[in-house]
Amino acid sequence: MMLLATDLDGTFLGGSEEDRHCLYSLIREQEQIRLVFVTGRGVESVTALLNEGVIPHPEYIICDVGGTILHGNTLEPVTAVQMNIAAIWPGGDRVRESMKDIAGLRYQEVYQQHRCSFFYDASTDVNAVRAVATALSCDVVQSAGKYLDVLPKGVNKGATLKQLIQLIDYPADSILVAGDTMNDSTLYDAGYKGVVVGAAEPELLAYTAGKSHVMQANIAGAGGIIEAMQHFPEFCRYIAGTGK
Ligand SMILES: [Mg+2]
Repeated sequence: MMLLATDLDGTFLGGSEEDRHCLYSLIREQEQIRLVFVTGRGVESVTALLNEGVIPHPEYIICDVGGTILHGNTLEPVTAVQMNIAAIWPGGDRVRESMKDIAGLRYQEVYQQHRCSFFYDASTDVNAVRAVATALSCDVVQSAGKYLDVLPKGVNKGATLKQLIQLIDYPADSILVAGDTMNDSTLYDAGYKGVVVGAAEPELLAYTAGKSHVMQANIAGAGGIIEAMQHFPEFCRYIAGTGK
C-alpha cells in the first residue's frame, strides 16, 4: 500500500509531459496507491484543474496551504479536521484590514478560506507582517520569494495532512510526501518518507538536507516522484513494468 500526498504546482503538475503521463497512468492503474493533494491553491482553482480530466482524481484535497480540507469526490469538507481549523481563524477580512498599512504587501485577489494570501517582495516589511499576525494568533508562511500566506496558528500543509492521516488511521511508513518550495517544508516534519523534486527552491533543499527520510530527486516535477518511488524499497514495486 502507498499514499502519495503531493503538492501540485512544480511537483505533481511539473516536469516533462512523458513523466507526468507515466505517473498519472500508474496512479490510475494501481488501486493500492491512494492520492492526496496538498496545495497552496484554493478550491476553485483545484476544481477547474480536475475538470480538465488530465490528472487523476484525489481521495482528499488539502488546499489553501493547509487551511481547507475536502473529500475529493464530493468536495465536502472533512469536518473533523476542518472544524479545528475554522475555530481558530480570525477571518480573512480582519487579517486583510490589519495588514492594510504595511508597505510592499499586496493582497491576492483569489478565492480562499481559512487563510489570507499576499504577494511580497524585497521592499516588504516582513517583520511588521509577522508582528500583526502574531497579535491575531496567526502564522506567516513565505514561499518562492513572492508568496506570503497568513494562516491560523499551527495550521500548515504538514499539520493538516497529519490530522488527516490520524483520522483515516493510515500507516505512517506507507506515506510518501512530495514538494518543491518552502510552503511544503512542513510536509517533511512529520517523519513520513519524502521527496523534494528536482528544480526545487534552494531554501527547501537546505531545509531538508541531512534528513534521512527525505530524498532530493534529480528529476523535476512528476519525474522526481517516480525517481523517489524507485528509491524507496516499499514503493518501487508500483513502477515495475512501466518501463521506468
Ligand atoms: Mg509547488
